[in-house]
Amino acid sequence: MKVIENYDDWVDPSTYLERLFVELSCRDNLLVDRIVGNAKLPVEYLDERELSSLIEGENSPSLGEGKRNLILSNNKGDFVKDCPATKTYRCCDYRIINIGTGCPMDCVYCILQAYLNNPNLTFYVNTDRLFNELDELLNSNPDKVVRIGTGELTDSMALDRITGFSRDLIAFFSEYDNGVLELKTKSSFIENLKNVNHAGRTVMSWSLNSNEITSKTEFRASSIESRLHAAKQCGEMGYHLGFHFDPIIDYPGWQEGYHQTIEMLFKTIPAEKIKWISLGAFRYVPDLKKVGTRRFPESSIFYHEFVKGLDGKQRYFRSQRTEIYSKIYNQIKRFASPETCIYFCMESDEIWKEVMGFTPKQQGGLPEMLDKTFC
Ligand code: SF4
Repeated sequence: MKVIENYDDWVDPSTYLERLFVELSCRDNLLVDRIVGNAKLPVEYLDERELSSLIEGENSPSLGEGKRNLILSNNKGDFVKDCPATKTYRCCDYRIINIGTGCPMDCVYCILQAYLNNPNLTFYVNTDRLFNELDELLNSNPDKVVRIGTGELTDSMALDRITGFSRDLIAFFSEYDNGVLELKTKSSFIENLKNVNHAGRTVMSWSLNSNEITSKTEFRASSIESRLHAAKQCGEMGYHLGFHFDPIIDYPGWQEGYHQTIEMLFKTIPAEKIKWISLGAFRYVPDLKKVGTRRFPESSIFYHEFVKGLDGKQRYFRSQRTEIYSKIYNQIKRFASPETCIYFCMESDEIWKEVMGFTPKQQGGLPEMLDKTFC
């Protein structure tokens, strides 16, 4: 596998954008003005026919080229959705805010390569409707902790330098004491998080991996050191923090690699700032292997033994997952605050029991375990 980035060379991924397209019907939108002003790119206005040709017609770019195009358009569907978890594995009752699709970073394992049918990046600008949907959701669940994040179909902060949308969301959530916003990222851009009243309702969270996996599979993402430095600054600004070891990848040297990252995490971040840490071993839908191996032929992450899980995804064998999880979990446990919720993303009760010694049900359920960190 080739290493294409030196850790010190990281630049904000939004600087890779080359073309900005605006759906004609959005041209008077104030958020469009803000983004056009910040992006400083030539702007092309497109009608519906031109837009659909760019998305899936004769002008549609490749996945790699599409990462340099940003389309500003209206979201015609719902902004707020339930996380597409499966019934088979323990899920955490999470909700998603669909602020846009695609990501200017480029991870070998990224599910979006197989999932999205639009190769361009899209950011939705009819956010009045988004805030109405959130209002309704939060007002109709006054006695529940509503955990919700934007990092499902994009990275929460990858375009924040030009959209500035983190500030709008953080300010909105500061007014609800039953909402918890999670902004999940591999970027280190945190400028817009400064001097905003978050009222303790936002969790800034970072995906973590070993340095080797980061440098060989997470192109244009910031280094682990730089992510942790950004997290430390956010902690100092009073934000709660979360970390996601996902996907954990089995490769020669994984023990040492993950051990180093865990040590760096707890050397940099005060344990009591961390609300949650999730663990998820590499898993993928079969279609991803075709795209991933074609786009990243140097990568070996798909060339491993996998078994088809109950959700149809390829996963490492259970014995291997248990071994990897046990090592990582026990290392994290040595340093973590007892208040931090350490959990598996999409794993079975058997794995929970074997590794952690209990099932989520015995602790009241995974959603409750996470909610408790806010009660
Ligand atoms: S940072 Fe996340 S959304 Fe972006 S390419 Fe990587 S996995 Fe995909």
